[in-house]
Formats: sequence, C-alpha cells, structure tokens
Amino acid sequence: MGTGPSGARSLIVAAALLAATAAAACGGSSAALLPTATASPVAAPSASPTAAPVPTTTPAATAAPSLDRDLHRLVSKDYALPASYVPSDLVILPGDWAVPAFAPPVVRVAVAAPLRMLLEAARADGLEIRVRSSYRSYGTQQETFRFWVDYLGEAQARRESAEAGHSEHQLGTTVDLASASAGWELIAAFGDTREGQWLAARAWRYGFAMSYPRDGEAITGYVYEPWHFRYIGRSAAADWHASRLTLIEYLLALYGDTAPARSTPMPASLPPAATGTPRPSAPTATATTPRTPAAAAPPAATATATGSATPVATATATATATATPTP
Ligand SMILES: [Zn+2]
Repeated sequence: MGTGPSGARSLIVAAALLAATAAAACGGSSAALLPTATASPVAAPSASPTAAPVPTTTPAATAAPSLDRDLHRLVSKDYALPASYVPSDLVILPGDWAVPAFAPPVVRVAVAAPLRMLLEAARADGLEIRVRSSYRSYGTQQETFRFWVDYLGEAQARRESAEAGHSEHQLGTTVDLASASAGWELIAAFGDTREGQWLAARAWRYGFAMSYPRDGEAITGYVYEPWHFRYIGRSAAADWHASRLTLIEYLLALYGDTAPARSTPMPASLPPAATGTPRPSAPTATATTPRTPAAAAPPAATATATGSATPVATATATATATATPTP
C-alpha cells in the first residue's frame, strides 16, 4: 500500500508519540485527525466467549461447506450492510492480542477462538502476529472513509478504503493483522514478511480468508491487502482456498441462484468533506514506508482486557475506530 513523504511521516510519528496512549485505537492514526468515535450501541451478547467452538486439534477442514447467511454475508463495493447492522455478540479480546498501543480487538464471539488459535499457532512457529484493527461500526467507517477521501483524494481512497456499509470490518468477523517486522503497519510489504507469508499459507486452516489478494483489484475493487482477513468458518475457508477464487467470487458462488440483488451502487461523488480536519502533507507513494497519517486515536474500550474475551456490552465499544485505509 502507499506511503507518505518522509516529512509527513516524521510529523505523523511525532504526533503519534504525543498522543499515544494504551487506549489508542486501531489505524494508528489520528485522534487529532479523525473524529472520535462514539460508543457503539452493542446489544448484550447472547453467548459467552467460551461458548465458541474450540477445535482441540490442529484445524483441518473436513465437512463440506454450507452457506451460512449470517457468516457469509456479501459485503463488497456492490453489496452493502445497512447502517443499523451491528453484530449482537461482539466481544473484546485481551489487550495483548493487539498491536502495541492499539485498542483490544473486538470481534464476534464465534471468531474469538479461531483467531486465538491462529495467533497462537503463529507464535508456536516463532512468529508474533497481532491485531491492529477489527470491528468497525458504520459510523466509524463513515469517519474513516471521509478521512481518507480528504487525505488521498476520492479516487485513491476508494481503492484503499470502503465507504460505510461496504466494509467487512462492520461484520465483526474481520481483522487486520500486523507484525513488528513490518513496523506494525498495514502495508503491502507485510505480505513479504515471514508473518505475512505464514498467514497467506495457513490462515485458511483456521477459517480465515484473505479478502483482497495481490492482483485482485479488478475483481475486488481494492488493492492488495495481505493483512486483511475475514473469518468464514473452517470448511468454507478450506473450500475457498481450494477454489482459488477471490473471496467475493467464492461467496457469490456459494449463494448461487440465491444471491441477493446488488445493493445500490455508491454515489459517484461525495458531499464536501468536513472542514477543520488537519491535513497531512500530500502523500507521494513509495513502496516501503508506511503512509498512515497517524497519531492517535479515539479513546478505546474501557473493558479490562485480561483473560479471555470480554463481552463488548460491558465496555465502551470504541476500540474500533481506525484511520487505516483498509476496506
Ligand atoms: Zn481491513
């Protein structure tokens, strides 16, 4: 993914250092730059995190995949979630699963155990992978997308960030993963790290699909994002992996004739951006430097993030805001 000029980067780093707190939210960026997210209206979870099925052995898909209209919701540039879509069973994971100084991850309860298995398997292989961004509410995504339009221009923002309703992060089943080897940044170079390669080769075994593969932009509408993984279940992920299709193609095939009609296409242009947002220097892409215009982020969840997953309903669910340009 793109990057910024070194001057802007320095400014960003300085701002990030000034603003960094343990509660900094995902995306790295921008408490000063991005509006603070408000608490998400999350309903009380109906199941405890421990209720999630936890395979006791190395995952190996065996069952034939079946369509799960909840887990396999279509989200793309053509398919949107309603603004009112908020998973009812979000949980907050321990803070030590998150990228340092980022908020604890927030995912649906069914994703918590597979995600833990994925990260612990990586650790067993000597690789530390952490979550940088997870659930994002519709409102947060609106702010995030607006930020990137303002920063990158609309055309580029649409390649790298999703308009509200079109982000898989709203599902609560999607995470952006990062490693120290890529500076904890969400950049294409992550795909070349040992951690990125490990995920590309193995995440499907744990039920996760890389939604936006290299050279997939013509189909997915988004640039290569080797860090962005969506949980679709183990059997579906194994089937997806074998299919060699992009995830959206695979899900559409899974729906077959029952695929819902395309949602209303996104507007061709946006209303004027809000004024008063500090604008980083214009980015000039280079391949290796993180471009995140960062600085800290909105106040994060107040839940005590120790032990296993904590129901989000008990916390202020603002752990989710991000300025990372990822769908
Ligand atoms: Zn993402």
